[in-house]
Amino acid sequence: MKRLTKLALEYKIFPILMFLVSILLALTVVFQNITIGVILDKVLIQQQFQLTSLLIIIFFVLIARAVFNMLNLAIGDTMANRIKNSLRQQVIEKASKSPIGKQINVVTEGIDGIAPFFSNFFPQVFKSMMIPVFIIGAMFFIHLNTALIMLVTAPFIPLFYIIFGLETRDESKDKMTYLNQFSQQFLNKVKGLITLKLFNQTARTEQELYEESTHFRTLTMRILKSAFLSGLMLEFITMLGIGLVALEAGLGLILFNNIDFKTAAIAIILAPEFYNAIKDLGQSFHSGKQSEGSSDVVFDFLEEPTINPVARPQQHDMSTSSIVKLHDVSFKYEGAQSYALQHINLEITKGEKIALVGPSGAGKSTLAQIITQQLPVTNGELTVASRQLRFGILSQTPYIFNTSIKNNITMFNDEITEAQVYKMLNLVGLKEKVAAFKHGIDTHIGEGGEMLSGGEMRRIELSRVLLLQPDIVLFDEPTTGLDLQTETIIQDVIHRQFQAATIIYIAHRDSTIQYADRRVYIENGSVKFIDQVMSVENKKGGEPE
Ligand code: ADP
Repeated sequence: MKRLTKLALEYKIFPILMFLVSILLALTVVFQNITIGVILDKVLIQQQFQLTSLLIIIFFVLIARAVFNMLNLAIGDTMANRIKNSLRQQVIEKASKSPIGKQINVVTEGIDGIAPFFSNFFPQVFKSMMIPVFIIGAMFFIHLNTALIMLVTAPFIPLFYIIFGLETRDESKDKMTYLNQFSQQFLNKVKGLITLKLFNQTARTEQELYEESTHFRTLTMRILKSAFLSGLMLEFITMLGIGLVALEAGLGLILFNNIDFKTAAIAIILAPEFYNAIKDLGQSFHSGKQSEGSSDVVFDFLEEPTINPVARPQQHDMSTSSIVKLHDVSFKYEGAQSYALQHINLEITKGEKIALVGPSGAGKSTLAQIITQQLPVTNGELTVASRQLRFGILSQTPYIFNTSIKNNITMFNDEITEAQVYKMLNLVGLKEKVAAFKHGIDTHIGEGGEMLSGGEMRRIELSRVLLLQPDIVLFDEPTTGLDLQTETIIQDVIHRQFQAATIIYIAHRDSTIQYADRRVYIENGSVKFIDQVMSVENKKGGEPE
């Protein structure tokens, strides 16, 4: 909770606003109930029926109360959105060693799990602090005994909740950890579905999935059980508190005659307000604790060591036209026997289009990842024109996050306008399709959302890269599942929109190679030859693959 609170205090203005709004809210609550007490006294005891002015007052007080309540929540929502966006940016930008399944999970489930802390728990904390304080304050003046009863009984509610909340927290963390593993395994199984079928392993895998999902369900049910149980107990304690106040007021009114009707009415009406405010804190404490469970997963992820923290590329005396230069670069995967790349020398100029070609397993992807700094060089030197090079990567299988189309394209950057997003969608030929959705670019895609075809998802990814305006675009051309219309659109967009950018194609087809200026032929981890790409007419035979 400390880390979450610290995060909240970075946005000072929101807690301050909540504090002020909660004071106003507490004042209206006290005022409203005293007025109701006065009205009851007038009608029932004094038999006076000129209540117009009092009714008008209560009408406005009620409206004010609703408005302050809404304001408080709206401030919380705004704060939650700000924090969510900033965390998402951090998670996305992190060059993590973890599998992509986990990273996606942190961006979606993990960060969504944190949001209730700010949108729900935080406003409630302020509300639940201010309302009881003001009520007790008022009761000290109105009727001391009630104030004392409240003062003694109130701490039991939070105490009880803390005990329960701690347990939920651990379980919720367990659940998140398990969900991460589960989704990773699920992703692996779906990816390997065909292999599993070929090797007749589907029945066993089904059984495994069944067991894993059952375990997940059991975990979820355990959390729900403790949540329901604590809810029940809380109602009980609250009822007890209200009952005590009512008993005291009732006895004073009827038996001891030491309290008048108006005072008793006010005490009895204020008591539920008092206990409910604390109880509501208890209930949101639960969601606060759950958020804490999620937050541990997110913060742990952010604190993980990143890939290759030391191997930053050199940046010095390059000829002005070069953007990346590889000098005698070799690369070996961790734990691998042999080098995947050996003694590569390559200088790429700004705006150049390079096609990496060669047989499968030759080292094309590895080289592309070295150039785009996703992998560190083992030996040799990689020099770049500027440390702030932006890379856009179009993979064979697009990463689509389980969120809105807009977020998928802007990568949660709020400063990008709807018009910009539509402009990108227009470029990739998806504007009409998206505009036809009921929620437009706010439509959710991915699991549980609107279904997009593989080609459409690749075009969403392309929109993302278009918006980024990278210096270097890496385009890993798909080898399978080619859909000609999509390919034509994608090729065309890349060709026209990234004229100034440097493009690295991992190319499998002649039509792609034609777009390149140079062709780098790789075999067995070494550059066999580099040649200029001729226009179609002059080209004769000798095509790789
Ligand atoms: P290409 O893209 O030309 O098909 P890759 O660059 O993917 O080739 O692979 C080059 C070599 O590196 C291959 O021998 C491959 O087995 C090996 N390799 C690729 N990725 C890894 C990895 N993550 N760990 C270990 N070896 C790898």
